[in-house]
Amino acid sequence: MATAKYIFVTGGVTSSLGKGIISASLGKLLQARGFKVTIQKFDPYINIDPGTLNPYEHGECYVTDDGAETDLDLGHYERFLNTPTSQANNVTTGRIYNNVITKERKGEYLGKTVQVVPHITDEIKRNIFQLGESGEYDFVITEIGGCVGDIESLPFIEAVRQVKWDVGVNNFLVIHLTLIPYLSAAKELKTKPTQHSVKQLLEAGIQPDILVCRSERHLPPEIRKKLALFCNVHINSVIEALDADTIYDVPILMRKEKLAERVLAKLKIPNKNEPNLDQWKVFLGKLKNPTDEVNIGLVGKYVELPDAYKSIVEAFTHAGAVNECKVNIEWISSETITEENSASILGKFDGVLVAPGFGERGVEGKIEAVKFLRESKTPFFGICLGMQCAVIEFARNVLKLKDASSTELNEKTKHPVIDLMEEQKKVTDKGGTMRLGAYPCDLKKGSKTSSVYGKTKISERHRHRYEFNNKYLEQMEKAGLMATGINPDTGLVEVVELKDHPWFIGTQYHPELKSTVLNPHPLFVKFVEAAQNHKKENNSKR
Ligand code: GLN
Repeated sequence: MATAKYIFVTGGVTSSLGKGIISASLGKLLQARGFKVTIQKFDPYINIDPGTLNPYEHGECYVTDDGAETDLDLGHYERFLNTPTSQANNVTTGRIYNNVITKERKGEYLGKTVQVVPHITDEIKRNIFQLGESGEYDFVITEIGGCVGDIESLPFIEAVRQVKWDVGVNNFLVIHLTLIPYLSAAKELKTKPTQHSVKQLLEAGIQPDILVCRSERHLPPEIRKKLALFCNVHINSVIEALDADTIYDVPILMRKEKLAERVLAKLKIPNKNEPNLDQWKVFLGKLKNPTDEVNIGLVGKYVELPDAYKSIVEAFTHAGAVNECKVNIEWISSETITEENSASILGKFDGVLVAPGFGERGVEGKIEAVKFLRESKTPFFGICLGMQCAVIEFARNVLKLKDASSTELNEKTKHPVIDLMEEQKKVTDKGGTMRLGAYPCDLKKGSKTSSVYGKTKISERHRHRYEFNNKYLEQMEKAGLMATGINPDTGLVEVVELKDHPWFIGTQYHPELKSTVLNPHPLFVKFVEAAQNHKKENNSKR
């Protein structure tokens, strides 16, 4: 196809209906027919990016190869499509205004009054067309965060209205995701909230082409008819989206509802190929028919909100499927772990992951967790702060450097085994200033990590300010904590692993960000396998 087609996904009635999953599922179905697809998300908040948001506010901050700190929906896009995203795939109101104001200061609008329409809407459209005009994609799917009717999403909705006239009706389509609640007292599915949210879209000049209706129950024909009539869409464009067992079922459910066929018909694209979802179905088959099961403890600070560790949870789902093993994750608040209770809290697990994090709170509990896992030879996987805790624990308890710490936790420590990176020392701004994005890493030949990856040259994504202090490298290695992954350009330690332990690996980078359905991350796959082995050994001892 010469020009890209633009598909917009808006939301109505309530947030959290899963626009990200619907967008990713549609993307998958189009990709499975041989089309090239990218998915973009607009977030209507004023922060330039979600990097400065507390995970409690907004869930995990997902990092792309090019170092953008983005919304967690981008993780879904990558996990479903198996193609990388970049800064261009996530744009906030803050970024749009920042770009416009920067241009204004440079004098690019000299003589003009700078206004929401056309200047803000033009900047929004520039960000949409930038992807479409790259020539790389047949479809650009743009998810508009928030709900129609929100004050803050108005400029985005207005930009969508304008795009129709810029690209022509055959290149433009709007999908509206909405909720059809079931009132148990009346024993009825209700369409009124959807009618109202479509009216709001119509007021903004947008007629949705397709309605995707989240519902706990099947939509009977009379409900579909009513929705079609009142919302001004064809009855075949009323798509039912039932609650699914797993997000990975959604592409299959949308296939049954013929969502992609509807999109292709509306955009007048001949529907030649049947989608090839073979690999996806193999994955689902394994995911749903496990022959084994392991219990993994996840030690973290934000345990009340599992979205804070979204990519870790999904990476376990992918890895579990490879091993045909159900992975039960139990969340443990690091603040509750002490030297006295670590064995009783963690002893029941087949493997424990110590999570990334920032700041002091809960870190001592993470360090106690590592001590127990090291000594009891329970599979341990530490990510970012989790890896740093492993280094601190080893320094304190094996090297006997009692006061060892990270300068993030104790600036005055006598033994800063984790210290601020040199390039970070001058940094004062908080936003977008960490070491971010993909960096190369060389794995030591013969190390466990290189055998896990099956190669020695890797590239992984980062988000941190502190690092392993190389002044302690020799001492650590002599005592058995080996630095087995090194950045070839800077010498930064990216991986540590313990000798004489069945599975003890800490990574300064975030492997979870690169795990997808079709490319499960080897570290997670092998960690689950190690947990299965640990469980078997424990069972045979009993
Ligand atoms: N707080 C640590 C650092 O900045 C770890 C960051 C993380 O876990 N993502 O280095």
